[in-house]
Amino acid sequence: MSIPLDSATELLRLQAAGELSAVQITQAALDRIAATEPQISAFTHRADEAAIAAAEKIDRDRSAGLPLGPLAGIPVAVKDVLCTRDMPTTCSSKMLAGYHSPYDATVVARLRQAGAVLVGKTNMDEFAMGASTETSAMGVTGNPWDPSRTPGGSSGGAAAVVAAGNCPLSLGSDTGGSIRQPAAFCSLTGMKPTYGRVSRYGLVAFASSLDQVGPMAWTVEDAALLLQVISGFDPADSTSLDESVPNFASDVAATDVRGLRIGVLRDSLDQEGLEPEVRRAVLEAIDVYRSAGAEIVDVSLPHSHYWVPTYYVIAPCEASSNLSRYDGAHYGYRAAISDAEAAERGPLLATYCKSRDEGFGAEVKRRIMLGTYALSTGYYDAYYLKALKVRRLIRGDFDAAFAQADVLLGPVTPSAAFRLGEKTDDPLQMYLCDLFTVGANLAGIPAVSLPAGFTAEGLPLGVQLQAPPLQEARLIRAGAAFQKLTTHHAQRPTL
Ligand code: GLN
Repeated sequence: MSIPLDSATELLRLQAAGELSAVQITQAALDRIAATEPQISAFTHRADEAAIAAAEKIDRDRSAGLPLGPLAGIPVAVKDVLCTRDMPTTCSSKMLAGYHSPYDATVVARLRQAGAVLVGKTNMDEFAMGASTETSAMGVTGNPWDPSRTPGGSSGGAAAVVAAGNCPLSLGSDTGGSIRQPAAFCSLTGMKPTYGRVSRYGLVAFASSLDQVGPMAWTVEDAALLLQVISGFDPADSTSLDESVPNFASDVAATDVRGLRIGVLRDSLDQEGLEPEVRRAVLEAIDVYRSAGAEIVDVSLPHSHYWVPTYYVIAPCEASSNLSRYDGAHYGYRAAISDAEAAERGPLLATYCKSRDEGFGAEVKRRIMLGTYALSTGYYDAYYLKALKVRRLIRGDFDAAFAQADVLLGPVTPSAAFRLGEKTDDPLQMYLCDLFTVGANLAGIPAVSLPAGFTAEGLPLGVQLQAPPLQEARLIRAGAAFQKLTTHHAQRPTL
């Protein structure tokens, strides 16, 4: 039988029915990875042996009648920004090449507890800074729909492995769109949860007030399964929310959208730079909801033109602080210092400077410099403090919008997947990929990207739904309803 590596739900059912074993599923995933890696290069580390061992344990537990977790025997890939005690954690940076974390991130520990089979770590933009996975020091990842194009970023590898049929689920992280944008580029469902819903313990920090871990899958149903496992309070993360987690499966089943107030972000549809095919996908999604009985209301987020400038002050400021730990002394890459260099600056300063110069790539250095500048005496008030005040206004916009609408509907990205190399020389063009996604991070609200069709060239398009804090369930209901009414999420690349 062919093994449905595109559906965790189906793989769980087939195992429960005794038609497939975890080892069979895992072997199929590893074979598929071996077949597609030459074209897409999505993994930074593959864990074939450990995966088979984990699958064998699931099969043994099942035949012994022991209780099994909700993801028993499901192959899952993890973005290389999450700490794993049995695999390297590199953040796709030379700075962390060869680094082995002594502990698992909480989300990784929860995956293991749930019986998931970890198949490897996925490529990303270096330290999650980028929108195409091209700032990686570990090579370029191709989009399974067209390997000459980017899968998006920064969780490009995590998106590519699901889209390539390697495994049904992956974990990404989203600081300014890094789950939702790759999901849109690869025709997946990708959710950024509410800030604090999912533990950040063991997530290598980029911008701590914005970072959040979340699920990627083909369908809302599968994404909800993974979200259920990773959500919930964690005392090891001081920003984790001590809130109960609803049973998302019941929201997947509750797909009646009659009376649901969908707020359409008209301003975003008139935004300069928005490609007509993306606009058309959003308009079609509005029609789908309208015909299903949802109430469509127009809402506006008046400060949305400040999202990108605000994000590109706050995120680099936090990054410059978080990345100061990579100094060549504590852990990670250490440059060799010549006697002359040591004599010139002193051995310690010479080690710091040269290690950081050689260990970080150009985009990471750009962010560190921007952030350090914006935080420095004399500029702090003008940039960082001002950005925090604007962030407050942006949050206020969302509060007002959610008084009128239950969820907000709009684009995820201004365009479909662009060609590899197309934007690498122009950081500003790359930053504009984040036009529609960074608002949710600045406001801390949950948002999901849903498959919404294809361009004339056959490239995936997405639409975004956003909801008030802790209302992931609403996104799941509205998203599952959309997938009941459309077939975009059922299309597969020919890779
Ligand atoms: N593209 C954005 C950036 O470069 C978002 C990245 C992310 O969400 N990790 O910062």
